Amino acid sequence: MRHGPWGFVLFRLAVLVGLAVAAGLVFGRPLAWVVAALAAYLGWQLYHIYRLESWLRNPSGQLPRDALGLWGGIYAQLNRMRRQSRARKKRLGKVIKEFRKSTKALPDGGVVLSDQNDIVWMNAAAQAFLGLRKEDRGQRVENFLRDPEFVAYLADGEFSRPVRMDSPVNPEVKLSVQVVPYGKTQRLLLAKDITNSVRLEKVRRSFVANASHELRSPLTVVTGYLDAMMDDPELPESWKEPAAEMARQSDRMRRIIDDLLTLSRLEAASAEADRDRVDVPGMLSVMKKEALARDQRPSTIELQLDSGAGLLGVESELFSAFANLIDNAIKYTGTDGTVTVRWFEENGAPRLSVSDTGIGIPEAAIPRLTERFYRVDKGRDRIRGGTGLGLAIVKHVLQRHDARLEIESEPGKGSTFTCRFPPERATGLDAEDGPAAGVA
Ligand code: ADP
Repeated sequence: MRHGPWGFVLFRLAVLVGLAVAAGLVFGRPLAWVVAALAAYLGWQLYHIYRLESWLRNPSGQLPRDALGLWGGIYAQLNRMRRQSRARKKRLGKVIKEFRKSTKALPDGGVVLSDQNDIVWMNAAAQAFLGLRKEDRGQRVENFLRDPEFVAYLADGEFSRPVRMDSPVNPEVKLSVQVVPYGKTQRLLLAKDITNSVRLEKVRRSFVANASHELRSPLTVVTGYLDAMMDDPELPESWKEPAAEMARQSDRMRRIIDDLLTLSRLEAASAEADRDRVDVPGMLSVMKKEALARDQRPSTIELQLDSGAGLLGVESELFSAFANLIDNAIKYTGTDGTVTVRWFEENGAPRLSVSDTGIGIPEAAIPRLTERFYRVDKGRDRIRGGTGLGLAIVKHVLQRHDARLEIESEPGKGSTFTCRFPPERATGLDAEDGPAAGVA
């Protein structure tokens, strides 16, 4: 077992007391000698305590180096600790300097927020993008970033996706802002400049819209001549089938262009659809009649109106979405199959489901169905006359109506496409607003 300097200290004390006793025995009054020796010892200790206390008050000064024994050990230990702490401080200082340098160079803005959304720290880009200043620390971030969508995003607490907003410093600068929770309660707000990608997106959109628009007129001319050719009784027999095929293909082209223009219009419109009152049961009844009038269709087409509710939305958009779902169900179901369209409510939330007993969709393809021009089987689905844009339109329309599309399917058995609208989009169809009447 190690005793450190204690053995020596006790030994020295014992020698001191021994010497005092010996002196007492030689010169008389041994007790006085011992008391005097102990007082001297105490004085010496007090002197070192005084030196230590003064050093602790001002640690930057020199530590005594002349002490022996216990005090020498204490001073040496303190010296070592001081050296270590200086080295650690230097190391940490370097790390912080590097960190500061890197966050300054970071192209994205970063703001550390407390659990109350108070600004704790920010980097240089955050100051430039968001107009925050160092003096704003300690204040709530909503006081400076007042964009309604951002404020709602922050209050909502659902941070899996970023939110877009204009920079408060320059509305020309478009930002993608995301909150990343970390630690126990802290949050990091990241702001990315997406002006360029927003501009590119805009260019792409207007290119598609313009190209579609430009293609429309020549196509109308081609279709006109084709119609005239087919009506001509002098058209040679050998030309009849090619002319009919050309007419079919130009009709398909027209439908693709129309769908592209519809998509462009949907993308250019504001994120939220207007809230006109739409008579969904009436619209579905018309669609059923039109479906029954088709030559090629499943033998049974059923419409179940379990709700009399209408929707608050844009009639033409909802018509196009529902018509696309019903058209798909008819296209991908054999003539002996069944298509069931159901309009109902779940806890006040309107639902439209279109079920068929058709060919179904493999599970892996389901997440990709709403991509533009995605087809499960390219050759087969094209022959059925689709444009490959129907479900992309459905998705956009539903997004603008705060609704979601759910797809369930089993290959060979059939599919169900369900549009789930929020209760706020339901409306009564009488003169007054209010929850819808029961079964129609
Ligand atoms: P299309 O005009 O080709 O039908 P859509 O965007 O409407 O394009 O649909 C995309 C693809 O999803 C279709 O090509 C088809 O493969 C598949 N699909 C859509 N609806 C159904 C359905 N009811 N049954 C089976 N497959 C479907």
